Amino acid sequence: MDLLVLDSVTKRFASGPEPAIERLTLAAARGEILGLVGPSGCGKTTTLRLMAGFEAPDEGEVLIGGRTVAKAGSREFVPPEARGVGIVFQDYALFPHLTLEDNVAFGLADLPAAGRRVRTREVLELVDLGSFGARYPHELSGGQQQRVALARALAPAPALILLDEPFSNVDAELRAELREQVREVLRATGTTAVFVTHDHEEAFTLADRVGVLNAGRLEQLDTPEVVYHRPATPFVAEFVGDADFLAGTVTEAGIATELGAFPNPDGLRAGTRVRLMIRPDDIGFAPEPGGHALIVRRDFRGPVNVYCLRLPSGQRVHASQPSTAIFEPGTRVRAEAELLHVVTFPAA
Ligand code: ADP
Ligand code: MG
Repeated sequence: MDLLVLDSVTKRFASGPEPAIERLTLAAARGEILGLVGPSGCGKTTTLRLMAGFEAPDEGEVLIGGRTVAKAGSREFVPPEARGVGIVFQDYALFPHLTLEDNVAFGLADLPAAGRRVRTREVLELVDLGSFGARYPHELSGGQQQRVALARALAPAPALILLDEPFSNVDAELRAELREQVREVLRATGTTAVFVTHDHEEAFTLADRVGVLNAGRLEQLDTPEVVYHRPATPFVAEFVGDADFLAGTVTEAGIATELGAFPNPDGLRAGTRVRLMIRPDDIGFAPEPGGHALIVRRDFRGPVNVYCLRLPSGQRVHASQPSTAIFEPGTRVRAEAELLHVVTFPAA
């Protein structure tokens, strides 16, 4: 059964004409880690606040564990403290004047003192801070504070945990390690989690499924692989990776483009004009004096070089090459695309 359901939820603020969240429908299965990704202002925090109970929907319904916790137009509303949800805020919101132990124990007021101590130890161990209990938040690094916030949220053993940009205050080098730790802790405790981030890589590495939000609308919700290889919309295609769109026309022999013909797996009708999605790793090229494409620019990204190529029509596409493959701008090349997945969108 789904642990969390949002059924066609809309949320408006008086500040803007457009809803912050519009007819958002999604479900998280028990034990699932769901990532919501999108640019700043797309409604990520609002979505979490609707789940947590800090906001009420203007339309639609929120269910947790099969129980309605909020329903527009009805009196049904379960307040945050009664939803059994753990929350990790973007700024962690640790109490500065309390030790880690007291921070974590704060949410365990219902337990007798001895049980509270045992549980506090247990979750601090879980996040690898077993020997730090007597410290204060300011005596910790950003990554450690993040883990305390996670421990505090997990302490009452909530079925659902919500995390808002959980790694945005952590150094880039530490992020990957911390992500792995958080994932292990969530798995070990079987906790269902929803986290939001503007960073698609973060969503891809941590989430079982990724939802992409654009201006309050969910454009796609699927596994990271499907979202990357089969984006549902041009917005998703560009948000989760580098994407170029080649003009193409469907013919009997496939989809004809400037980079050759491609299969037509969706059986589009001949004559249909499309935009074909190309990612930099789809295009290979080699220098050739009379080559049809011209290198315009090279971006060194460490593991790869990403080249910007100009095709005869003036269209630019990006092509990745190994880190050590260095060609000068102005070099003529012959480019070829090989697509694992043919993804097309209607011509603009
Ligand atoms: P994100 O977390 O993706 O950056 P938010 O959910 O914070 O986005 O905001 C979505 C939209 O709703 C933005 O346009 C924001 O200005 C607006 N918004 C969020 N909270 C409020 C509020 N309390 N009052 C008025 N407008 C708000
Ligand atoms: Mg936010």
